[in-house]
Amino acid sequence: MLEDKNQQRTSLADLGEFGLIKHLTDSIKLTHKSSITGVGDDAAVLEFNKKQVLVSTDLLVEGVHFDLSYMPLKHLGYKAVMVNLSDIYAMNGTATQITVSIAVSNRFPLEAIEELYAGIHLACKSYDIDLVGGDTTSSTKGLLISITAIGEIDKKDVVYRNGAKPNDLLVVSGDLGAAYLGLQVLEREKQVFQANPNAQPDLENYTYLVERQLKPEARKDIPKLLKELEVTPTSMIDISDGLSSEIIHLCTQSKVGCNLFEDKIPLDQQVIATCEEFKLDSTTIALSGGEDYELLFTVDTADFPKIKANPNLTVIGHMTEKNEGMNLITRANQKIELTAQGWNAMLKKG
Ligand code: ADP
Ligand code: MG
Repeated sequence: MLEDKNQQRTSLADLGEFGLIKHLTDSIKLTHKSSITGVGDDAAVLEFNKKQVLVSTDLLVEGVHFDLSYMPLKHLGYKAVMVNLSDIYAMNGTATQITVSIAVSNRFPLEAIEELYAGIHLACKSYDIDLVGGDTTSSTKGLLISITAIGEIDKKDVVYRNGAKPNDLLVVSGDLGAAYLGLQVLEREKQVFQANPNAQPDLENYTYLVERQLKPEARKDIPKLLKELEVTPTSMIDISDGLSSEIIHLCTQSKVGCNLFEDKIPLDQQVIATCEEFKLDSTTIALSGGEDYELLFTVDTADFPKIKANPNLTVIGHMTEKNEGMNLITRANQKIELTAQGWNAMLKKG
């Protein structure tokens, strides 16, 4: 995981807005041909001849999207970038630039914002992204972070949510549910700590879950892999809200139905073990947990031989005619309608 250092407390008021911006952006070096001018003018200048440009924005608010009592600022910066890059990859695109806007209260010293930016810079370096601008302002209370990601793609390669056809296979990258369980583990530790501040957190059995919650990785590798396999998905979306809700988006926008098979949903061993321990149903967690940042897509059945042996990809179902509805086929071979809120009746195991 990422290191967090926060010893000194330099007041943001001493630096002022421009001093802070300069401090945070001074070391930036632009690497993309499409980045003509970055930080320092009224707007960044990008040039993408013949390419289509993808733009996506997310706003993260303290107390709503993150809790700084267990989310180190460096991880928060990293995750805030991942959330945005994931949307570009979900279009089958290449992410190239981001802008970062922050609103900070005087509760935060410079060192805290440096930590946030250390995570942002690390994410940019690992994913080959130029930071080309942003905005900096004050807030009365918490911290707000808004990131805009920009990407490029050839027109012929763009994958929308609305292209799925009946019989297409439904495919997901990686595994599901771990990030949500990581959050449950961290919440539990927070409560233990509040009751007894001397208690040491015991996270040994949950390392993968906590990592997925605190340091998610956007699936930059999947558009690349699909290109290598010569597979163009017919539709695609990233999993931010939970498998169920994302399947419903694909089906609704593509005007198709689907059958999702419970026994095919990919789960990590730690997810299975922790669900047993917490008396939670692992299917419910995968369907409704969210924050997995995996990619969910559909492919023509003719492409099945190209993807079937790939360890990064799992076929979890298939699309149907719209009038067949959107269904989960359980291990007991029951058909249950998918709902965006998840499968509440099964939330607690008997
Ligand atoms: P303006 O008055 O045009 O909004 P600013 O003084 O806010 O300009 O910003 C100056 C430059 O610094 C701009 O290029 C802007 O994109 C960049 N910038 C401002 N805040 C941030 C930030 N938090 N992170 C990265 N770049 C920033
Ligand atoms: Mg400004």
